[in-house]
Formats: sequence, C-alpha cells, structure tokens
Amino acid sequence: TRAYLDRIEATRNLNAYITVTADRALAMAKVCDEKLAKGEGGPLEGLPIAVKDLFCTEGVLTTAASHILDGFKPPYESTVTSNLWGAGAVMLGKTNLDEFAMGSSNETSYYGPAVNPWRAADDAETKLVPGGSSGGSASAVAGRAALAATGTDTGGSIRQPAGFTGIVGMRPTYGRCSRWGIVAFASSLDQAGPMTRTVADAALMLSGMAGHDPKDSTSAPLPVPDFSAGLEDGVKGLRIGVPKEYRIDGMPAEIEKLWAQGVEWLKDAGAEIVDISLPHTPYALPTYYIIAPAEASSNLARYDGVRYGLRVDGDSLAEMYANTRGAGFGAEVQRRILIGTYVLSAGYYDAYYRKAQRVRSLIRRDFDQAFETVDAILAPTAPSDAFAIGAEVDDPVKMYLNDVFTVPLNLAGLPGISVPAGLSARGLPLGLQVMGAMFEEAKLLRVARALE
Ligand code: GLN
Repeated sequence: TRAYLDRIEATRNLNAYITVTADRALAMAKVCDEKLAKGEGGPLEGLPIAVKDLFCTEGVLTTAASHILDGFKPPYESTVTSNLWGAGAVMLGKTNLDEFAMGSSNETSYYGPAVNPWRAADDAETKLVPGGSSGGSASAVAGRAALAATGTDTGGSIRQPAGFTGIVGMRPTYGRCSRWGIVAFASSLDQAGPMTRTVADAALMLSGMAGHDPKDSTSAPLPVPDFSAGLEDGVKGLRIGVPKEYRIDGMPAEIEKLWAQGVEWLKDAGAEIVDISLPHTPYALPTYYIIAPAEASSNLARYDGVRYGLRVDGDSLAEMYANTRGAGFGAEVQRRILIGTYVLSAGYYDAYYRKAQRVRSLIRRDFDQAFETVDAILAPTAPSDAFAIGAEVDDPVKMYLNDVFTVPLNLAGLPGISVPAGLSARGLPLGLQVMGAMFEEAKLLRVARALE
C-alpha cells in the first residue's frame, strides 16, 4: 500500500485520482496485516485498489466528476465496494472519470482530463486521452498507481479505456454486480466491473465485486462462481464467432489486422472460427444515444440544489433549480439531458424512445441467436488507438463513434472483456474484445486468457 501511495504521488501528472485516501489506506492495510499474520483474511486481503469516483464511499468525497456534487460525502457505501472491502481489498482513493460517466475520453470531467501514461512513439510531447469514462481507473492501473480498479460500463466505459491503456477491462452481465450505491447514469445499461493488468486479476477482482444484492432489484439472484477456476483450460473445441457487421467503413487497416491476428491466435489454440451475422449492429449506436440520454435525463432530475452538493440561490425555487443545474452540470451532461428530455417528450416519445426500445430488442435477439451456435464473439474494442487530448472534444458525433463496437453489448445486457492485443503503428496499445452469453463470464475469461 505504501509503495502504491508513493507511486500515486510520483504520477500526479496523470490526474488519475480525484481523491487519495492515504491515511485510510494505511489504516486498512494495517488491519489486513494483522489478519494475514493470524492466517486469516479474504481472497483480496491487503491488495491496494482504486475506485472510480462514481461509487459511493461512506464518508469519502464522491464527485462523479461533476461540480453539482460539490462536497458530497455519502452516508453509505456502495455494495460493490463494500464487497471488495469485505474480501480484504484496501482503498487507495477515488479515480477521475467523465462527468457522470458521460464520455469516451475523460475530458468532460470537472476535475480536468486524466492522462494516458502512454505516448506515441514518434511524439513524446502530445498528451493522449486514456479513454473514458473510466479514464482515471485506466490511467491509474496502466501507470502502476493502483494494482487494480473498479470501473463502470454503460456503453463501453470499462472496455474502451482498457483498450487505450493496454490493460484488461471487463464488463460483466447486467445484474452480476449490484448497482446499489453507484451514481446512476442509465440504469438499464450501467454495470460495474474490474480493470486490471491481467486476466487472472480480473477474475479475482470480479469474484470480489459480484453477488446478489436485495437492495438492487435488477441484481441477479445467482451464486458467484469461482471465476479463477478453469482460466487455463484453453479454447480447444470452443466456437468463436466473427460478426461481419463489425467490419465498418473506414476502419483503420491496423485494427482489421489486429482482429485477423486475434482470429489466428484462437484458431491456433484450437478454437473453431465461425462467421456470424448480427444484422442490427448498425442501429446500435443511434439506439444507445437515445436510450442512454433518456434514462440520464430522468436519473439526473434529482440534482436540484436541495438534496446534494451544490446550490446556487435565485429569487424563486424555480430560479434556484435553474441556477444550480446551469452552474453544476457541464456541457456534455446538459446536452444529454436536453436530448433525453426531447426523446421522452409527449410529441416525440413514439418516434424516438419507443422505436429505440424496439430496436434494442432486435439487437438483443441478434445476440441470442448467435449464442445458439457460438461460445463467444471476437471483435475489436475500439475503432482507433488513443487520440490526443482536445482532438475530438468539440465534435460530439465523432466522440460517440468511439463506442461503435462496445454499445451493442450493453443494449443486450451481456458480458464482454477487452484484452491488450498489440500495438498500433504509433506504438500505442490496441485491445481485442471478447463478448459472451448471459452470465458466462467464466468462459469469457478463459477465451481472454488464451489471447493474453
Ligand atoms: N462513451 C459512452 C457514453 O458517453 C459510454 C459511457 C459509459 O459507458 N459510461 O455514453
């Protein structure tokens, strides 16, 4: 824990952390030491980890990287973090993210962008994004300023930053981890998961995070399997699907090559490769960018200047609301609230929101049909390597395109994992994504391990 706290200080330029809880970490580590000395302790005993600042942590500042939660110290602990502490993990601090997890580059954070520890081979000056929204968690793990970290993935926020920083990131099945105590973005899509250096660590972390929680009615009443068992069983005899719709126009040649390389690796390891079709894939991105803002606009209605954080006074209650929300939410969050309110409004509900829900069912059905014949699906994690800070921030549509390979899975509620698979021509990490059927995280981890 001390070594990691030193490393956090040495890597302050990454802006990976919003809050460092050094004293608490040392106190937690001391308790772990005592337990370990007595031969007790959980599976994560003494392991120092970071927590995305979207998880409520009792008595510790929780910001969601938003000005509107100014000074908010939750009186309760999220179930996922509470499970982790129960398993023996030590909290180093709270990591940076896009405001309310809305973004793909960590640039919408009120606390400034987190920085990717990697630099392009031919340009050591330009600072690159770590991806988002779990950018701080990714930077911290890739920069060795945490052994592992929690993330959340509503549309790719674990997998894409994992890909951009050369680490492993897993989004479990919707319902595998409790959402209780995690600041809500889009409740039907949000899911917590691990960000780690290795697949074995991801398996261990997930075991510590997962589990049924009566406080989250969408949490699955299933036992937590030992995700580490069977990790080395290999992929011999598994059928791996390669979806043709993921071959999008304008995909860089090096991403295509990486994908083909991944196919070869799995084939060499004994898997059977099957060409498949997920016909509604082209509609996933627009569907996501209707459903996610719709749910966000509803979830964010609670920030009214009365119950949490920031308040900017006005001459009337309505004016106080408007002043608080105007000053407290950043531009991207306001954009999502506007879009979400619009697609839910009486005149447009049928044309947008209801239509999007129907398409969502079709996307889910595509996956259901595919998983009748294959064990897992292989695709790239993102359509590019990490880009420069500032490069895409003024073009929301370009930014949303980062999520083209990750959002279909969220709409279907399924698990996926990004594994570091090579370097781009610029010497930056690229990730490959393995997608799986409902609650088949163990099988996914096994395939991911074969790619590692
Ligand atoms: N980049 C996506 C968005 O901005 C996904 C974010 C996430 O998964 N939290 O909505």
